[in-house]
Amino acid sequence: MEVHGYGKILDIDLSSGRITEREVAAEFGRRFLGGRGFGHKLLYDEVGPDVDPYSPENIVVFANGPLTGTGAPCGGRTEVTTRHPLSQSIGTGNTGGVWGARLKHAGFDVIVVRNQADRPVYVFIDDGKVEIRDAGQLWGKDARVTNDILQQELSTGTAVMAIGQAGENLVRYALALNDYYHVAGRCGAGGVMGSKKLKAIAVRGSGPALPVRPEAFHQAVREARERVKAGDEANWKPGPTSMKVFMDRGAKPELSRSEQLKYSIGKGAICYGCNMNCYNDMGLVREGKYAGLKESNITRTMVIGNFASVGVDNLPAIWKCKDVSQRLGIDYASSTRVIAFVQKLLQDGIITPRDTDGIVFRQGDEEPVLKMLDKIARREGIGDILADGTERAAKVFGKEAEKYVRTVKGMEGGAAVPGADRNPEGSNWWFLGFTNPRGDITTSTHWSAAQYNPNWTIDEYDMPAEMKRKIYGECPEQVAFTWDGKALMLKWFEDLHAVVAGLGVCFFPTHMRLAMGPDYLSRLYSAYTGLDMGPGELMEAGDRLHNIFKAYVVRHGLTRKDDFDPGESGQAPDKAYNHKINAWLDEYYELRGWDVPTGVPTFEKLKSLGLDDVAEDLRRRGRIL
Ligand code: SF4
Repeated sequence: MEVHGYGKILDIDLSSGRITEREVAAEFGRRFLGGRGFGHKLLYDEVGPDVDPYSPENIVVFANGPLTGTGAPCGGRTEVTTRHPLSQSIGTGNTGGVWGARLKHAGFDVIVVRNQADRPVYVFIDDGKVEIRDAGQLWGKDARVTNDILQQELSTGTAVMAIGQAGENLVRYALALNDYYHVAGRCGAGGVMGSKKLKAIAVRGSGPALPVRPEAFHQAVREARERVKAGDEANWKPGPTSMKVFMDRGAKPELSRSEQLKYSIGKGAICYGCNMNCYNDMGLVREGKYAGLKESNITRTMVIGNFASVGVDNLPAIWKCKDVSQRLGIDYASSTRVIAFVQKLLQDGIITPRDTDGIVFRQGDEEPVLKMLDKIARREGIGDILADGTERAAKVFGKEAEKYVRTVKGMEGGAAVPGADRNPEGSNWWFLGFTNPRGDITTSTHWSAAQYNPNWTIDEYDMPAEMKRKIYGECPEQVAFTWDGKALMLKWFEDLHAVVAGLGVCFFPTHMRLAMGPDYLSRLYSAYTGLDMGPGELMEAGDRLHNIFKAYVVRHGLTRKDDFDPGESGQAPDKAYNHKINAWLDEYYELRGWDVPTGVPTFEKLKSLGLDDVAEDLRRRGRIL
């Protein structure tokens, strides 16, 4: 047996009940790191473009990185990957909590689930022992109730990942919830688990996570934790373009951060090994009709922005909507866009209340939103149409409904804080997001813009000096609202993002002023696994991971035409803006070493990354030259 830090790969065939285990080969670990890299490569090798996401041939991969559950800062992350029922392409998302750490402590880093059970089941992993158990009594229950029942039955220390009614009913943007508050939101795995009749995976793990070089690892952990803490503290201090400014920008006073904090009861639902002051604040509603409601992430801009955009205008109601979404197991980034789409269609007379089962929306009234979420999750009436997403729903509604669809690669994008997602002067917060192979509009760069802050200057970023200069210019003159250097910024942060998701740590310490970048990550990786990898080699692995991510969607026929900004729903495209985008895309593809006119990786580029099998496959299929 090879000695390195990777746990085993667990392969579960739900049709036959066959459960097998295999070791991770060191070479596979070096090349694909873990987490996202393992998930994407396994999906590429096993699930081709002809596989229906809801057919037995689709797989779901739950993959830790080598650093998950080890004590590395913010090292509690797991990537979930499958073929997405909404986009029919790659579905990939990242979750925290303790579930991944428990999996590692039970001896595994990866679970591959394949085929379909003939009745509802759940998987119980108990320190190396794995069983497929009957879940008849859990089917029909929401994800949080399922969590409670399984913990009661198996012990409170058991970590549970479960689907709700949306997953059971094959809603195309359903998700799996773990540890009560955490989700790999945008990957579509909830519906795929539902199609496999897999209600939950419960994990109990008590073994140690043993670094190959303990002294070097613990020293790297100590230093990295100090940096993460310092970077995080600097981030929240006021500065010219600090996070605080972003948080408050565009938000109504009644939804502002100071209002949010009035409900705070402190940090909760923190991921394993995290030492950051993250959005996982817990809030308690003390009065009114939602008194007693406890919810996490109460200061999360995405939660508030998404529900506020469909007319829910007070914080307790927003958290109620989030609670219901999590229980039903539905991705609110998609469901709120679906509801916003229906609201626009109603407003412009494309559909009438007869089409919505009588549901009409009023600003400040969350009841219709809650009702619609429930209908979607149960596929009742209009909910059956909306459960398939806006692109398919528009085809059913006909008339001009397609003009109102705002998707990228088949995925609805989230609604960020108004005014913060697309800035006419070229804000680099979100506008680059449509190159994300998964679809939607979020990307790795969304917090990596040049934010000069006297509390933590770019000099302190864990990033090669030459790269800093090329991307940000000379400190402190760098400006967030410019296009200069941003194509390179996108490439570099996409690669780093892939590394982070591969290693099993969280994106936030990377985004938050690059407290952990290639240097610290390579020290942690090398010491934990004993497989030496310098910062440059690690970034090259990130490039490889991003290319396999892209290759998956290229095999499905996606090209440059799919990297576009959908603009505002129901509005004509902004020609001047699109012209700028095109010039910027040329620069980006060039930097990536891809074919500029088509926006796809070249044969040579894939070969240079050691992805010979992928290069040959794409050429044979006529997808690349
Ligand atoms: S920063 Fe937040 S999301 Fe990231 S690991 Fe920590 S608690 Fe989890």
